[in-house]
Amino acid sequence: MTPSPPNGIPFVPAAGDRRRHPAPAHLVFFHGPMDCGKSTLALQVDHNQRRQGRHGVLLTQGDRSGSPQISSRVGLRRAALEVDAGTDVRLLVRDHWAAGHRVDYLIVDEAQFLTGAQVEQLAELVDESHVDVYAFGLTTDFRARLFPGTQRLFELADDVQRVQVQVLCWCGLPGLLNARVVGGAMVREGATVVVADTAPASSPDDVAGPADDAPVRYQVLCRRHYVRGELGRAPTGPGQLALR
Ligand SMILES: [Zn+2]
Repeated sequence: MTPSPPNGIPFVPAAGDRRRHPAPAHLVFFHGPMDCGKSTLALQVDHNQRRQGRHGVLLTQGDRSGSPQISSRVGLRRAALEVDAGTDVRLLVRDHWAAGHRVDYLIVDEAQFLTGAQVEQLAELVDESHVDVYAFGLTTDFRARLFPGTQRLFELADDVQRVQVQVLCWCGLPGLLNARVVGGAMVREGATVVVADTAPASSPDDVAGPADDAPVRYQVLCRRHYVRGELGRAPTGPGQLALR
Protein backbone atom coordinates (compact mmCIF):
# COMPACT_ATOMS: atom_id res chain seq x y z
CA MET A 1 0.00 0.00 0.00
CA THR A 2 3.00 2.26 0.37
CA PRO A 3 3.39 4.13 -2.89
CA SER A 4 6.87 4.28 -4.32
CA PRO A 5 8.22 7.73 -4.95
CA PRO A 6 8.45 8.64 -8.60
CA ASN A 7 11.93 9.60 -9.66
CA GLY A 8 12.88 13.13 -8.92
CA ILE A 9 9.48 14.11 -7.58
CA PRO A 10 9.29 15.06 -3.92
CA PHE A 11 7.74 12.22 -2.04
CA VAL A 12 4.79 12.88 0.20
CA PRO A 13 4.64 10.04 2.70
CA ALA A 14 1.41 8.14 3.20
CA ALA A 15 -0.55 8.84 6.32
CA GLY A 16 1.06 6.07 8.34
CA ASP A 17 4.52 7.13 7.32
CA ARG A 18 3.85 10.74 8.06
CA ARG A 19 3.56 9.90 11.73
CA ARG A 20 7.11 8.60 11.68
CA HIS A 21 8.36 11.59 9.70
CA PRO A 22 6.24 14.30 11.16
CA ALA A 23 6.01 17.27 8.88
CA PRO A 24 4.06 20.12 10.36
CA ALA A 25 0.52 20.15 9.08
CA HIS A 26 -1.72 23.17 9.21
CA LEU A 27 -5.27 24.14 9.86
CA VAL A 28 -6.11 26.96 7.49
CA PHE A 29 -9.42 28.79 7.45
CA PHE A 30 -10.63 30.89 4.53
CA HIS A 31 -13.71 32.95 5.21
CA GLY A 32 -15.83 35.63 3.64
CA PRO A 33 -19.37 36.64 2.81
CA MET A 34 -21.58 34.76 0.42
CA ASP A 35 -20.53 34.75 -3.21
CA CYS A 36 -16.90 35.56 -2.48
CA GLY A 37 -15.68 32.44 -4.25
CA LYS A 38 -14.99 30.18 -1.28
CA SER A 39 -16.08 27.01 -3.03
CA THR A 40 -14.11 27.90 -6.13
CA LEU A 41 -11.05 28.40 -3.96
CA ALA A 42 -11.73 25.12 -2.15
CA LEU A 43 -11.73 23.27 -5.45
CA GLN A 44 -8.62 25.08 -6.61
CA VAL A 45 -6.77 24.12 -3.42
CA ASP A 46 -7.89 20.53 -3.92
CA HIS A 47 -6.68 20.59 -7.51
CA ASN A 48 -3.28 21.97 -6.52
CA GLN A 49 -2.87 19.36 -3.81
CA ARG A 50 -3.84 16.50 -6.10
CA ARG A 51 -1.43 17.71 -8.75
CA GLN A 52 1.32 17.19 -6.17
CA GLY A 53 0.26 13.60 -5.77
CA ARG A 54 -1.50 14.14 -2.49
CA HIS A 55 -4.72 12.45 -1.53
CA GLY A 56 -7.57 14.34 0.04
CA VAL A 57 -11.11 13.96 1.23
CA LEU A 58 -13.72 16.64 0.60
CA LEU A 59 -16.38 17.34 3.20
CA THR A 60 -19.43 19.52 3.04
CA GLN A 61 -22.58 20.17 5.01
CA GLY A 62 -26.16 21.01 4.31
CA ASP A 63 -26.13 19.44 0.87
CA ARG A 64 -29.56 17.95 0.45
CA SER A 65 -29.04 16.85 -3.13
CA GLY A 66 -28.47 13.20 -2.25
CA SER A 67 -25.15 13.29 -4.05
CA PRO A 68 -23.11 15.68 -1.94
CA GLN A 69 -20.56 17.77 -3.76
CA ILE A 70 -18.66 20.98 -3.59
CA SER A 71 -19.65 23.05 -6.55
CA SER A 72 -18.74 26.55 -7.56
CA ARG A 73 -20.42 29.13 -9.63
CA VAL A 74 -17.70 28.99 -12.24
CA GLY A 75 -18.74 25.47 -13.10
CA LEU A 76 -16.34 23.30 -11.13
CA ARG A 77 -17.69 20.52 -8.98
CA ARG A 78 -16.42 17.49 -7.16
CA ALA A 79 -18.03 14.78 -5.07
CA ALA A 80 -17.80 15.29 -1.34
CA LEU A 81 -18.81 13.52 1.83
CA GLU A 82 -21.69 14.96 3.76
CA VAL A 83 -21.09 15.51 7.45
CA ASP A 84 -23.56 16.59 10.10
CA ALA A 85 -23.28 17.78 13.66
CA GLY A 86 -22.93 14.20 14.88
CA THR A 87 -20.01 13.29 12.62
CA ASP A 88 -16.67 12.64 14.30
CA VAL A 89 -14.27 13.71 11.57
CA ARG A 90 -11.43 11.78 13.21
CA LEU A 91 -13.37 8.55 12.80
CA LEU A 92 -14.24 9.49 9.25
CA VAL A 93 -10.54 9.83 8.42
CA ARG A 94 -9.64 6.65 10.30
CA ASP A 95 -12.25 4.79 8.27
CA HIS A 96 -10.45 5.94 5.13
CA TRP A 97 -7.15 4.74 6.49
CA ALA A 98 -8.69 1.43 7.51
CA ALA A 99 -9.91 1.00 3.95
CA GLY A 100 -6.34 1.49 2.75
CA HIS A 101 -6.71 5.05 1.45
CA ARG A 102 -4.27 7.82 2.12
CA VAL A 103 -5.58 11.05 3.56
CA ASP A 104 -3.02 13.79 3.28
CA TYR A 105 -5.47 16.65 3.51
CA LEU A 106 -9.09 17.55 4.09
CA ILE A 107 -11.10 20.19 2.27
CA VAL A 108 -14.01 21.31 4.44
CA ASP A 109 -16.62 23.47 2.75
CA GLU A 110 -19.50 25.17 4.60
CA ALA A 111 -17.24 25.12 7.64
CA GLN A 112 -19.41 27.70 9.38
CA PHE A 113 -21.77 24.85 10.20
CA LEU A 114 -19.15 22.82 12.08
CA THR A 115 -19.61 22.43 15.80
CA GLY A 116 -16.86 23.61 18.11
CA ALA A 117 -16.10 19.98 18.90
CA GLN A 118 -15.63 19.20 15.21
CA VAL A 119 -13.19 22.06 14.80
CA GLU A 120 -11.26 20.61 17.73
CA GLN A 121 -11.31 17.23 15.99
CA LEU A 122 -9.85 18.85 12.90
CA ALA A 123 -7.11 20.43 14.99
CA GLU A 124 -6.32 17.03 16.48
CA LEU A 125 -6.01 15.52 13.00
CA VAL A 126 -3.56 18.28 12.13
CA ASP A 127 -1.46 17.90 15.26
CA GLU A 128 -1.56 14.18 15.87
CA SER A 129 -1.93 12.77 12.38
CA HIS A 130 -0.33 15.50 10.27
CA VAL A 131 -3.33 15.87 8.02
CA ASP A 132 -3.55 19.32 6.46
CA VAL A 133 -6.99 20.87 6.83
CA TYR A 134 -8.30 23.61 4.56
CA ALA A 135 -11.65 24.92 5.80
CA PHE A 136 -13.87 27.36 3.93
CA GLY A 137 -16.87 29.11 5.39
CA LEU A 138 -19.00 32.16 5.87
CA THR A 139 -17.79 34.72 8.35
CA THR A 140 -21.05 35.94 9.85
CA ASP A 141 -24.71 35.01 9.77
CA PHE A 142 -27.54 37.37 8.83
CA ARG A 143 -27.39 38.93 12.30
CA ALA A 144 -23.76 39.90 11.64
CA ARG A 145 -22.57 37.43 14.31
CA LEU A 146 -19.89 34.85 13.81
CA PHE A 147 -21.17 31.37 13.06
CA PRO A 148 -20.15 28.94 15.84
CA GLY A 149 -17.88 26.93 13.55
CA THR A 150 -16.32 30.10 12.24
CA GLN A 151 -15.67 31.38 15.75
CA ARG A 152 -13.90 28.18 16.80
CA LEU A 153 -11.83 28.22 13.60
CA PHE A 154 -10.81 31.80 14.33
CA GLU A 155 -9.68 30.62 17.74
CA LEU A 156 -7.80 27.49 16.69
CA ALA A 157 -6.63 27.80 13.09
CA ASP A 158 -2.95 28.25 12.33
CA ASP A 159 -3.85 30.67 9.59
CA VAL A 160 -7.04 32.64 9.01
CA GLN A 161 -7.50 34.39 5.68
CA ARG A 162 -10.27 36.51 4.33
CA VAL A 163 -11.02 35.41 0.79
CA GLN A 164 -9.74 38.14 -1.44
CA VAL A 165 -12.39 38.14 -4.13
CA GLN A 166 -14.52 41.11 -3.27
CA VAL A 167 -18.26 40.96 -3.33
CA LEU A 168 -19.73 44.37 -3.91
CA CYS A 169 -22.64 45.94 -2.12
CA TRP A 170 -25.15 47.62 -4.43
CA CYS A 171 -23.40 50.92 -3.64
CA GLY A 172 -20.10 49.66 -5.00
CA LEU A 173 -18.27 49.31 -1.70
CA PRO A 174 -16.97 45.89 -0.66
CA GLY A 175 -19.76 43.82 0.82
CA LEU A 176 -18.97 42.16 4.13
CA LEU A 177 -22.26 41.18 5.71
CA ASN A 178 -24.99 38.77 4.71
CA ALA A 179 -28.48 40.24 4.96
CA ARG A 180 -31.51 38.00 5.11
CA VAL A 181 -34.36 39.41 3.09
CA VAL A 182 -37.86 38.08 3.67
CA GLY A 183 -40.62 39.28 1.46
CA GLY A 184 -38.49 42.18 0.25
CA ALA A 185 -37.51 43.45 3.71
CA MET A 186 -34.34 42.85 5.67
CA VAL A 187 -34.77 40.87 8.87
CA ARG A 188 -32.39 40.65 11.81
CA GLU A 189 -34.14 38.08 13.97
CA GLY A 190 -34.91 34.44 13.47
CA ALA A 191 -33.33 31.04 13.36
CA THR A 192 -29.70 31.19 12.42
CA VAL A 193 -28.04 27.84 12.27
CA VAL A 194 -31.06 25.96 11.08
CA VAL A 195 -29.49 24.02 8.27
CA ALA A 196 -32.69 23.86 6.30
CA ASP A 197 -32.76 27.60 6.39
CA THR A 198 -29.17 28.68 5.90
CA ALA A 199 -27.90 25.74 3.89
CA PRO A 200 -28.50 27.39 0.53
CA ALA A 201 -25.45 29.49 1.27
CA SER A 202 -23.90 27.64 -1.64
CA SER A 203 -26.55 29.10 -3.89
CA PRO A 204 -27.62 32.13 -1.95
CA ASP A 205 -29.13 33.96 -4.86
CA ASP A 206 -31.84 31.41 -4.98
CA VAL A 207 -35.03 31.78 -3.11
CA ALA A 208 -34.30 29.69 -0.08
CA GLY A 209 -37.01 29.48 2.48
CA PRO A 210 -37.65 26.38 4.53
CA ALA A 211 -41.30 27.09 4.02
CA ASP A 212 -42.71 28.65 0.94
CA ASP A 213 -44.73 31.34 2.69
CA ALA A 214 -42.56 34.41 2.20
CA PRO A 215 -39.67 34.28 -0.22
CA VAL A 216 -36.35 34.37 1.60
CA ARG A 217 -33.14 35.43 -0.01
CA TYR A 218 -29.74 36.65 1.06
CA GLN A 219 -27.94 39.77 -0.08
CA VAL A 220 -24.42 40.92 0.64
CA LEU A 221 -24.21 44.49 1.91
CA CYS A 222 -21.50 46.85 3.07
CA ARG A 223 -21.56 47.56 6.79
CA ARG A 224 -23.22 50.94 6.41
CA HIS A 225 -26.08 49.65 4.34
CA TYR A 226 -26.39 46.59 6.53
CA VAL A 227 -26.80 48.84 9.58
CA ARG A 228 -29.30 51.01 7.76
CA GLY A 229 -31.10 48.02 6.31
CA GLU A 230 -30.95 49.56 2.85
CA LEU A 231 -31.15 47.00 0.09
CA GLY A 232 -30.62 49.39 -2.76
CA ARG A 233 -32.34 49.36 -6.06
CA ALA A 234 -30.37 46.53 -7.55
CA PRO A 235 -32.75 44.18 -9.31
CA THR A 236 -31.58 41.18 -7.34
CA GLY A 237 -35.06 39.90 -6.74
CA PRO A 238 -38.46 40.20 -8.26
CA GLY A 239 -39.66 42.46 -5.44
CA GLN A 240 -36.79 44.84 -5.97
CA LEU A 241 -37.79 45.78 -9.47
CA ALA A 242 -41.13 47.01 -8.29
CA LEU A 243 -39.49 49.31 -5.74
CA ARG A 244 -37.88 51.32 -8.45
ZN1 LIG B 1 -23.37 49.70 0.50
